[in-house]
Amino acid sequence: MNDLVFDSESLNKILENKEVSHNEVLEICQNAVKNPNELFLVAQNLRMKFKGKSVTFSKKAFFNIVNLCKDTCSYCTYKAEPGESKLSLMSKQQISELLQLAKKYRCVEALFVTGEAPEQRYQEARDWLKENGFSSTAEYLIHASELAIETGLFPHTNAGNLNYEEMKELKKTNVSMGVMLENVSERLTEKGMPHHLAASKRPKARLEILENSGKLGIPMTTGILVGIGETMDEIIDSLFAIKQLNDKYGNIQEVILQNFQPKPDTKMRDEPSADEKYFKLVVAMSRIIMPQMNIQIPPNLSPKSYQSFLSVGINDWGGISPLTPDFVNPEFSWPEIDKVDEYSKKAGFDLKCRFPIYPEYFSFISKELRDKISIIEDEEGFVKEEYWR
Ligand code: SF4
Repeated sequence: MNDLVFDSESLNKILENKEVSHNEVLEICQNAVKNPNELFLVAQNLRMKFKGKSVTFSKKAFFNIVNLCKDTCSYCTYKAEPGESKLSLMSKQQISELLQLAKKYRCVEALFVTGEAPEQRYQEARDWLKENGFSSTAEYLIHASELAIETGLFPHTNAGNLNYEEMKELKKTNVSMGVMLENVSERLTEKGMPHHLAASKRPKARLEILENSGKLGIPMTTGILVGIGETMDEIIDSLFAIKQLNDKYGNIQEVILQNFQPKPDTKMRDEPSADEKYFKLVVAMSRIIMPQMNIQIPPNLSPKSYQSFLSVGINDWGGISPLTPDFVNPEFSWPEIDKVDEYSKKAGFDLKCRFPIYPEYFSFISKELRDKISIIEDEEGFVKEEYWR
């Protein structure tokens, strides 16, 4: 039973675990722009009800496998051009060395990231693959994932729009995978908009990847990028699109809410960062649309606002690396895990280290992978404290 009762019928419905429509959420949001307190209270109530007093993170190493990319998003600083100093083309040797180091640092997750199908656009990428004995980036990722498993790390691949067969192959070693929906709005792909030169970010293409992950039963991380010129209506549309996929397949293990930060070497360098008040509304809305979802914001993008976001519905800090930078947001270094622990405690939450797969999804993976997890798993399905501290 809930003691909270509001004037808003929609907020009461949410507290009673009833479905709300797009228009009802939009109305809640419009009211919350003037006074967000009731929305925040409901979001926090749901968060406590479904996630308790824990907040999780994943201790990871970021493998910037290749950052050539056939697309161009107006906000992206990750993508490199041949000859640039930030270009990354990791050799098998470099991958093995970083895996060993990650193991030494007691990382749990090997995050493998690439640009979108680099070999389709760049000779340099084709040469690099050939030198290492592969014909596609996906093949290389399959190999890298096998190496990670052999070393005792758990791979999570985020390589854009992989096809069904590639994902099927990667499922054998990856305990989860990721692809950001970003936003479901076609408008953001029009001329002058951030996804105009990024065919892989067409909503239809991204939704198809997420559908495939559902058909394959892959625990999937997705999310939206907030503050890139979208409307609140488009945010709500995007969150409902994720919810619908999850209602159908039950495999969306977490939703990342990433706040836009302008990068000096990009077309959107003069655009403002996502407004914090607006971002908080998005966080709270995500919680009311998907009350049981794992909702994550990256702590390095909001370093001064930990408490603030914990109080409106998030329950995960995502991957934090003690040894590699965030190559997607290189100007924002990861906080120290001890600091995250301290700030989470101050806000009344216990920090837990999770695997790149949340415990609720353990049944999605093979027995081999599940057995490997159980070696360092505590009684709640998180990583044993003595392993990661
Ligand atoms: S965000 Fe991804 S798809 Fe877009 S340019 Fe960067 S690497 Fe490529």
